[in-house]
Amino acid sequence: MTAPAHLQQQGLDGLTERAASAVYDLTTRGALGKFTEAASRVGFCQRPIRLAGRAMTVDTRTGEATSQYSSADAPLGVLLTRCGNRRESVCTSCSRVYARDTFEMIRCGLEGGKGVPERVAENPLAFVTVTAPSFGPVHSTRGGRTCHPRGNTTCPHGRSLSCTKTHLKDDPAVGSPICPDCYDYLGHVVWQYHAPELWRRAIQDVSRQLAARLGVPVSKVSKVVSRQYGRTAEMQARGAVHFHALFRLDGPLDEGIGAACGVGVDVMVDAIEAAFSRAQVQAPPTFEHDQSRVLRWGEQIDIRVVREGSRTDDPDAPITGEQVAAYLAKYSTKDTSLAVPDGAHVHRIKQTCAEVHEAAIRRAESRRAGEEVAVPVDSEGRDHYVLIGKWAKELGYRGHYSSKSRCYSVTYRTLRRRRARFQQVMQEETERAQRAGKPVDLAAVEEALLSQEDESETSVVIGVWEFVGVGWTNQGEVEIATAAAARAREYAQLRAGKQ
Ligand SMILES: [Zn+2]
Ligand SMILES: [Zn+2]
Ligand SMILES: [Zn+2]
Repeated sequence: MTAPAHLQQQGLDGLTERAASAVYDLTTRGALGKFTEAASRVGFCQRPIRLAGRAMTVDTRTGEATSQYSSADAPLGVLLTRCGNRRESVCTSCSRVYARDTFEMIRCGLEGGKGVPERVAENPLAFVTVTAPSFGPVHSTRGGRTCHPRGNTTCPHGRSLSCTKTHLKDDPAVGSPICPDCYDYLGHVVWQYHAPELWRRAIQDVSRQLAARLGVPVSKVSKVVSRQYGRTAEMQARGAVHFHALFRLDGPLDEGIGAACGVGVDVMVDAIEAAFSRAQVQAPPTFEHDQSRVLRWGEQIDIRVVREGSRTDDPDAPITGEQVAAYLAKYSTKDTSLAVPDGAHVHRIKQTCAEVHEAAIRRAESRRAGEEVAVPVDSEGRDHYVLIGKWAKELGYRGHYSSKSRCYSVTYRTLRRRRARFQQVMQEETERAQRAGKPVDLAAVEEALLSQEDESETSVVIGVWEFVGVGWTNQGEVEIATAAAARAREYAQLRAGKQ
């Protein structure tokens, strides 16, 4: 079925069959306008959360209700909120918002803005990449060189250890082991499962290393300097996570974010290098006859100076802060499933997670039955690996894909609040302008935003909400939202290009 002629006129041609039939259905019910309005309010999110209920804004000085809102007044009779999912495959619209927020979070930590003082731009900055160690040789692009030339050597499984191909980036072989039976799958998932703890320990040690270099006790180091960071995790083709982080060295912590720092970037680089090469986690055994493992970072700890600590960016620096922020934001939304080719390698990583999980469940049962179990439990008496099955989809990684230290930059929550406030004010001003037949008054928008910022301190929002469901009514509606989101993006790009 193609879209009816009147829909083509509205620019809705080129829709999928299911979307066109949903448009047709909404049109015949007289609900297309309401649907479009509701969908546009959530930025054409693909699986919005539906809520029913009421909210009221109360002035805390007078106790008076200043405004009221009921979901019954919303276009579709329910309040829709964005799903907020990070993954591009789940929601293109929300994943872009997440990428933008990550970019803003990183950028504000670089140069200030959105409540972060501009003086942060004067402090030393370094870009750090740390990876997982090797769990066995894998096919690799090696920057256009030969993959793994090893002559006639064979492994105990009789496989050749040599690969003389030159792999292109999108070759599905990239990242998969040269011999899957030699590859240490157990070591891989155990490392990945403990990677967040390894990160935490390295970070803590950076402060210790700074203290040692500055000749102050660890307990006093924050009175001199504080290391702040914004970090993202990225899944490599071999299915191992690696981390990129921007480290900034601020002055005394009690002087606030971005306090002037009298220490050079070299001291920070040195401290980071020492901390990450020393960091280790003792991982308990996964099976009865397994050994415990000492987990460390891969040998290559890449540290690049972005800024020496002068006012302007170093013109000779290999990378600029802006590039770093864009780079980090891009990777924060990448799906594990998209970054790692779906094949035998990924299957085996997931299967290993499942096996470790099942063994942990069996041990937990044995302990409950009062039997002696050789594998230790954690401080709360739980088996260390009882949750690994839950993270099999993420190949055993249970950490966040982006995070930051407390005083690095603005929080995601603040960014979300600011955006919601901006959208609300913009919508009100647009409606007012439309009624008056005038263009939107940007000065009025600005003023409303400022006055609301004051207001939020003297008012509270009280709401009673009930969860109705997730997603649109049918797949056709999902596809309309997806198509509309794509159009909105194209339009925004077009507009940006014209400026
Ligand atoms: Zn969404
Ligand atoms: Zn190869
Ligand atoms: Zn082998």
